[in-house]
Amino acid sequence: MSMLTEKQIELRNEIRAFVDSEISPYTVELDRSKEYPREIVNKVGALGYGGLPFSKELGGSGYGIVEGVIFLEELSRGMGSLGFILCASLFQCCYALRDAVSEKQKEQWLMPAIACDKVLTLALSEEIGGSDALGLDTVATRCSDGWILNGSKCCITNAGVADGYIVGAKTNLNSRSRNVSLFYVDASAEGVDDDGRFDMIGLNNSPTGTIKFTNCHLPADALIGVENEGYKPLKSALNCGRLALAAVSIGMAQSALEKSVDFSRACSNFDRSISSYQGVTFPIAEMYMNIGVARNMLYHVAEMTEAGVRCTMETASLKLFSTEMCQKVCRDAALIHGGRGFGSHCDVERLLRDSQLLMVAEGTSQICKVIISDGIYNTPFGKPIQ
Ligand SMILES: Cc1cc2nc3c(=O)[nH]c(=O)nc-3n(C[C@H](O)[C@H](O)[C@H](O)COP(=O)(O)OP(=O)(O)OC[C@H]3O[C@@H](n4cnc5c(N)ncnc54)[C@H](O)[C@@H]3O)c2cc1C
Repeated sequence: MSMLTEKQIELRNEIRAFVDSEISPYTVELDRSKEYPREIVNKVGALGYGGLPFSKELGGSGYGIVEGVIFLEELSRGMGSLGFILCASLFQCCYALRDAVSEKQKEQWLMPAIACDKVLTLALSEEIGGSDALGLDTVATRCSDGWILNGSKCCITNAGVADGYIVGAKTNLNSRSRNVSLFYVDASAEGVDDDGRFDMIGLNNSPTGTIKFTNCHLPADALIGVENEGYKPLKSALNCGRLALAAVSIGMAQSALEKSVDFSRACSNFDRSISSYQGVTFPIAEMYMNIGVARNMLYHVAEMTEAGVRCTMETASLKLFSTEMCQKVCRDAALIHGGRGFGSHCDVERLLRDSQLLMVAEGTSQICKVIISDGIYNTPFGKPIQ
């Protein structure tokens, strides 16, 4: 098991206490109302938690990615959809921006996002198929003083509530790999239509929807990084997003485990506590084991990311394992709760609904397997594992 330092354990306990008092008591009610938890996002920002993985120069607290994922785990243990919202803004978007933008752009876009004053989202997926990250129909064409953006994005997290979108668009129609650029688009810009929220099975507090860009004029400095080389910041966004989504999954699975233990202690059948039946305690033991394996992998991949070590395969493996593990843990938790586990009054029912979506967002399980198998067959295999 990866050992956390005393300082990291202290930080985890502090965040856990905050989540237990300020978030968890409102989770069920908020899930029902489907309200976007802006107030809680602001509180998280005011406590400086959004800045945990970022340097002090960027307004962060100078810790690292390990502390960032600990934060997301704890947050998602209280409310998965909140973890999901901040996974998109702080990990996908902030990491896409961190190494690709100028000092002025950092001040305008990155630092307010790190402070949680602004919520950002990556708008990449389109109706033609989100799995092919570079196969886009959205086009940005040059004009005299910038760019004109046209296209439509679907299944976008934080749609309608985000302050800014990081949009992938084609800027070169002649190349397959060097054809996409990333742009920062203010949500209030003319030509941005983000009304198309649709209902999903879960993650109720994280609005998902369609965003359309119709002759949307962007200034020249809306370009993130280098023209036609959007794949570089995009890679950071996708890898950090997958790492963060694993943290969300582990936090939710931890919550399902705790609720199963509490329930099994309190529920009796045939004049005995159901915690005396191995049919109940063995799935709980397996939950504990699988969460531990995923958590160990999470901290390891977070350390690799922090150290700048190439870890695309490891991140895809982590995302695949953690999201599928979370779904299985939540399903077993619902079964342990009997019929109650599938009713809308029960907290594990929410976890079960939420967990389904984690296997699709930020690269489906199949796409993770494509990345892993491509890595196995197309890189010198057998090199020492880091
Ligand atoms: C809750 C939620 C939030 C989301 N938030 C965002 C967001 O903020 N920004 C954003 O840009 N997108 C977002 N998405 C979209 C998400 O990234 C896509 O749904 C995902 O990448 C899959 O794309 P798709 O739905 O278009 O399915 P498709 O790409 O059409 O795939 C359909 C099926 O085919 C499989 N498939 C496709 N290609 C292959 C292949 N080569 N090998 C094997 N199987 C394959 C897929 O696994 C899937 O099962 C979100 C999705 C969800 C569910």
